[in-house]
Amino acid sequence: MPIQEKKKIKKEEKETLAPKGMCDLLPKDGDLWKEIGRAVFGVAELHNFHFMETPVIERAEFFETKQNKEHGTEKHLYFVKGKGEHLALRPDYNLPFLRGYIDHHLGYFASPLKVFSYGQVFSIKHSNEHEKNISREWVFHVIGDNDPIYDVEIIHATLEVMKTLKIKDVSLHININGCRTCRGAYREKIKSFAGSKKGELCGQCVRGHEKDPFLFLECVSEKCIGAKKDAPTVLDFLCQSCNNYFKNLLELIEDNGILYELTPSLIRKSEGSNRLAFSVRSGGVELALGGRYDYLSEIAFKKQIAAAGVSLYVDRIIPLIQAQGNQILAKQKHKVFFIVVGDQAKKASVRLMHQLRSSGIVTMEALGKKSLKMQLKAAEKAKAPVSVLLGQKEVFEETAIVRDMDTGAQETVTFDGLVEGVRKKLKS
Ligand SMILES: [Zn+2]
Ligand SMILES: [Zn+2]
Repeated sequence: MPIQEKKKIKKEEKETLAPKGMCDLLPKDGDLWKEIGRAVFGVAELHNFHFMETPVIERAEFFETKQNKEHGTEKHLYFVKGKGEHLALRPDYNLPFLRGYIDHHLGYFASPLKVFSYGQVFSIKHSNEHEKNISREWVFHVIGDNDPIYDVEIIHATLEVMKTLKIKDVSLHININGCRTCRGAYREKIKSFAGSKKGELCGQCVRGHEKDPFLFLECVSEKCIGAKKDAPTVLDFLCQSCNNYFKNLLELIEDNGILYELTPSLIRKSEGSNRLAFSVRSGGVELALGGRYDYLSEIAFKKQIAAAGVSLYVDRIIPLIQAQGNQILAKQKHKVFFIVVGDQAKKASVRLMHQLRSSGIVTMEALGKKSLKMQLKAAEKAKAPVSVLLGQKEVFEETAIVRDMDTGAQETVTFDGLVEGVRKKLKS
């Protein structure tokens, strides 16, 4: 390909080669991605959550419920053509987990089923051009039980992941969304309240409040924040059963010493959701969102299965950790950078690097860069505390130079003594 054409593609890469609203997770963020995964695996193991993976696509009909059509939720789905099947990319994990639970009779094996997973979910954001249509998530779900004990367990697991990741200023926000019995009356009340405040709402909420009365409760525009100050709260509308549930839940949360804020703007609108809605935030960023969806299975599969879950948003947690200057990566294994000069040294390095790695020493290299200067630069950038240098002379003598990158102190070791020499330098 002519160079000019190559350049052109590179320039456009940012805007056009990926589908709209999609983004890549890049190698520079890979270490943090791993750290989040480690935290989740650790918490999942302690809480006895089992790993489960479902396909990214499901049969579209399960998402195309009457209510989804009415509320326009359907417009957010990515539809995919299958072999004679009408499919959709999963917009979340709720439905796929329930589908798997039913398909494999998982209720017989565990009661309730506690699962965790990692993957991408897709939904088309029409309202905000800057929002991404893809989300990378770690999720915890409990399926087959509606006891608030499991709601608290999911909240606990989420907070423990944040704590393991040393995220600062974490806050837990909780709201209750009622049930079929009590939600309707609240919705009507909010609708008439929004109508009475029409003059004070932002443009978007004035247009949208008839169709979606809860819109202005979630709205973050200054106008709407002012208008919703004395909005009726859901607590006054809860039925007896939701009231008991909420009382039990808050008791459990308080017994466990978990701090929370009641947050009326936390509304989960889908017909499948009920009762608990919670969000974990830091510095105004929503890092995790969860709650109950006891009705979803009945709507999609005509089977009553209680369920609750939470999504932890990897694409938001990574930049937040970076912005907080968090030292979570500092405890990583000690690393060695291997530097070679000349073809003979390059050849010999393969066996020597394998020796180091077999001994559990993380070994990096930049063999694509020919000059010593460039490789040293790469070693500095990688922040490796120790480097190994190998040139023509060393290969001939079957020795290598082990160098402390901070002090510059270096010594020559034999090939056989390399692992030991590196270990010694790493310790000092
Ligand atoms: Zn209720
Ligand atoms: Zn608004």
